[in-house]
Amino acid sequence: MPKVSEKARVDDEPIERHLALPYPWQQSFWSRLVDQYHGGKTPHALLLSGPVGIGKRQLALSFSHLLLCASPKDGQACGECKSCLLNQAHTHPDLNIAEPEPGAKTIKVDQVRAVIDFLGNTAQQGGRKVVLLGPVEAMQEGASNALLKSLEEPAGQTHLLLYTHQLSLVLPTIRSRCQRVDLPVPSTALTQPWLETMVGEEAAELLEAASFSPLEALALATGERQQEQQDVMQYLRTAVLEGASSIMVAEKLMKFEPLLVIEEVIRVLQLAIKDAVLSESSVVESSVVESSVVESSVVASERGTLAQRGTIAQGNTLNIRYLIASSIQSAGSQPLYRFLDKLVVNKRALLSGANPNKQLLIEELFMDLSAAQRLALKKQTQIASIAGNLE
Ligand SMILES: [Zn+2]
Repeated sequence: MPKVSEKARVDDEPIERHLALPYPWQQSFWSRLVDQYHGGKTPHALLLSGPVGIGKRQLALSFSHLLLCASPKDGQACGECKSCLLNQAHTHPDLNIAEPEPGAKTIKVDQVRAVIDFLGNTAQQGGRKVVLLGPVEAMQEGASNALLKSLEEPAGQTHLLLYTHQLSLVLPTIRSRCQRVDLPVPSTALTQPWLETMVGEEAAELLEAASFSPLEALALATGERQQEQQDVMQYLRTAVLEGASSIMVAEKLMKFEPLLVIEEVIRVLQLAIKDAVLSESSVVESSVVESSVVESSVVASERGTLAQRGTIAQGNTLNIRYLIASSIQSAGSQPLYRFLDKLVVNKRALLSGANPNKQLLIEELFMDLSAAQRLALKKQTQIASIAGNLE
């Protein structure tokens, strides 16, 4: 199974800063936690248990934000007090999150020691202190015993929110000191509509493939999408490099969702426009001659980000970017800006539920792209012949 991602799409959006909220299928569990909270009966230690990919961590994080909020409204963190602002910035000093570090599989003894120190100190914001720790079974040997003491002798105004994917691997001594919340695999009646808003009609199939775990299903969709993005880019590359006809390109691209195709073209055009604005014209022109990736400092740094995102085959994207950027420099950016506007209009229409003839739409879009390319080539030939006449 691929790593669970809680974000539907890997894209250029900045990291969202907001308070955690429970997933729609967790409402009954959330209500119970909120009721306990209002009744002043929030347990000192909670253990959320259930299979991977159902959002246990999200539920625990949402609850930690509520516990730390200075003035909750309607059973939710207010989003406005100092504590909420600190949580939105992921810098609340009274929330300690102990989880395996990136690339690691275990929660180290040192991390648990830090939790114990944290529990021994006074709350910096004068309110509660919360520890979010999980998966419990990932704690290194010895770490569990260190934690036990904190579970046995709770300090005032502190809450330990633990989660586990495999309850049988959690020491009985830890289990017995926590109030347990067993979360089942949620019903598809609740998860499918949620997943559909992100992946469309494939939701049911993906849920089944992920044993009905909604976050695993989403991760599967993200993985598939990355493959599709690479495929779309491959066809675009062929189209642009080999001058394939718009009808041929449209035929190849028919198997993808028009929205995916349009989003990919928009993405590449935006990158190309950025290159054209930032790069030296000489660098861009030489790439046309060689049809190969020529590095400029701008693109070299962009390459780093692309590699980190790992979403797109870099060579494909860069080639097309350079070709389009070079068109802009020789023919001006007007035709491509017009094309971009058209893409955006089409994207909006698709998002608002329009159901156009897929083949016609893609054909038309590529006729526009080819026209812009031809205009660029014509200008380049004119420039070359003028230069030739001068010699
Ligand atoms: Zn607040």
